[in-house]
This record gives sequence, C-alpha cells and structure tokens, in this order.
Amino acid sequence: MRVLFSAPKSDWNDYRDVLTNALERAGIKAEIVYAIMPDDPGSIDYIIYAPSSEMEDFTPFTGAKAVLNLWAGVEGLVTNASLTQPLARMVDPGLTEGMVEWCTAHTLRHHLGTDRDVCRQNDSWDFYVPKLARDRSVTVLGMGTLGRAVGTSLAALNFQVTGWSRTLKDVAGVACLAGEEGLAKALTSAEILILLLPLTKATENVINAERLQLLPKGAVLINPGRGPLINDDDLIAALASGQLSHATLDVFREEPLPEGHVFWANEKITVTPHVASATRASSAVDVLVENIRRGEAGQPFLHLVDRSQGY
Ligand code: NDP
Repeated sequence: MRVLFSAPKSDWNDYRDVLTNALERAGIKAEIVYAIMPDDPGSIDYIIYAPSSEMEDFTPFTGAKAVLNLWAGVEGLVTNASLTQPLARMVDPGLTEGMVEWCTAHTLRHHLGTDRDVCRQNDSWDFYVPKLARDRSVTVLGMGTLGRAVGTSLAALNFQVTGWSRTLKDVAGVACLAGEEGLAKALTSAEILILLLPLTKATENVINAERLQLLPKGAVLINPGRGPLINDDDLIAALASGQLSHATLDVFREEPLPEGHVFWANEKITVTPHVASATRASSAVDVLVENIRRGEAGQPFLHLVDRSQGY
C-alpha cells in the first residue's frame, strides 16, 4: 500500500518517524511517499494532506481511497472540485487539549480582569472583590469537537456556559441551544463569547452589527474559529461604542494580519498569530492510522466531512 504525505517539509519532519512507527505498531505495511506529485499517482491509496501543501489537483490520484486532512478546518478543501475522494478532517486529542487551554486562558484573563489588575509603581492600590466564575456567563458558538470540550471545561470551572450549534446537542453542564432563535438567546446572555464554528457559507459574517447588539453591553469576544465569521467593520464599530469592551482574535481574513491593518492599532483588540491550537503529530498519527486501518478493513472512515454542509 502507498501513502502520500502531502504537506510542507516542516510537517514531514514532525511526522516521518512517528507515522512510520504508528503504522508498524498497527501491523500495516505501507510505503510512505513524501513528494509534491509522486511517480505513478494512480497507485497512491491514501493522501495525508495539509491545506498548505503545494499540491492542489487531486485528479491524478485515481486509486486514492481517502484524503486525510491534518487540519480541523476544511474550508479551503470543500471548494476544491478535483477532490472527489472521501475527505476526513482532523480530530486530534492534542489539538483539542491545546484549544481548551487557550480558550480557558483568554476567558480567565477577561473574567478576572488580569490586564487591569497588573500594577505598576504609583498606580492606585484599589482593592475590590472580583466576580466568581459562577456569576459569569460564557457562550460558545459551535458545539463540535472543540466547542464541546471548551464548554465542558469552562463549566467545570463553574462558568455559566451556553453552547450553540446547528443541531441541538446534549452536553453536561452546558445549556445547549440551536437555530436562529437559539442564537439570539445564546448571544443575549454572553458576557464572554467564544467562536468555535467552522467557516462555511452559512457561518460567514455570523457575527455582524445586529448580532453584536444582542450581547450584554461591554461583552468580550474571543475568536479562535476563523476570521470571516466576523464582519470586521461591525466589530470595530461595536468596540468604539463600548458595546464590546474587548476582542481577542487569533484568526483573520488575511493571515498574517497585514502591516497597517486597523486591528493592530486598536487597544481594545488583542491579536494572536493563529496559535490557539495545532495538530500534534504524536497523537494525530493514531487518528490517521486508525482511518487507514478502517479503509483497509472496509469499515466506514471516522470524521468524514459533509460536503453539503461544508464542514
Ligand atoms: P466540528 O466540525 O467538530 O464542529 C463544528 C460545530 O459548529 C458543530 O457543533 C456544528 O454544528 C457547528 N456549526 C456548523 N455550522 C453551523 C451553523 N450554520 N450554525 C450553527 N452551528 C454550526 O469542528 P471543530 O470543533 O473541530 O473545529 C471548529 C473550528 O475551529 C474549525 O473549523 C477551525 O476553523 C477552528 N480551528 C481553529 C484553530 C486555531 O488554532 N485557531 C485550530 C483548530 C480549529 P453541529 O454539531 O450541529 O454539526
């Protein structure tokens, strides 16, 4: 069996040994090919793929049984007409753990007012009793792999967590909502709003002026999802009016965020360079190998993308 690893060299360096070992452990005999376009592409059985790969035409891979994405986000792949093979997105326990840590850190930063409390010499020495998490409402948009894990962890810290998704979920400790009416309700209570939606036709600009107006005055927005989930002009206006007190943004319409972009100069915006979480080779290989095992055993693949929904 032949597996093509189609991703930048840095990924190959991270995966080469761990992937080889994981396939061996699973008793799967495979030749792993690292190339932009291998010799005899028709003989490739599986394509492990990063959307940052230089290869974008899947047409020559006539024998490929699946494309196994290294990223959770697939917005750049679902529109690729040459990709007709089954497409699995990445669900990696390491990626989920990283996202929980990042979201928890930024939620706690805003909840506790950590920036405000850091004292310099001659600053006023104000004592006050901060609000506890039990009195703070957090809404997570997207109750998928990442949103569910983030919501559950914040609920374990006692935050009042609301979660919103396309189809109604049942998540312990999280008040789950769905649909347009559910979204309005989820936003109305969101002192801290976290976006963990995929980017699709239906979610682009989901956060616009009208929806920002539903938030409690002075709410905080945290976006580790995708930049185009937010209408940027409406975000700037909401920050200027005080409707939003702060936005922490990890993802942008253009990355890296261009020099001179209005976000850089806005003191109410924290920019992080798409670091909320990453796929970890050490845990991701088990997911890749399990899908190859399933493919060879004629069992259904895990984490298949529903192209009609775009995620
Ligand atoms: P999932 O596919 O597991 O979950 C997506 C969630 O969004 C589901 O709950 C889904 O609803 C919901 N959803 C999708 N469309 C709609 C809609 N139109 N209305 C309401 N809810 C909707 O994805 P993950 O949790 O794994 O990842 C989420 C996103 O996080 C990724 O797509 C990616 O963009 C981003 N990400 C960012 C990273 C970073 O470092 N900044 C790292 C990794 C991922 P339902 O449950 O009903 O299907």
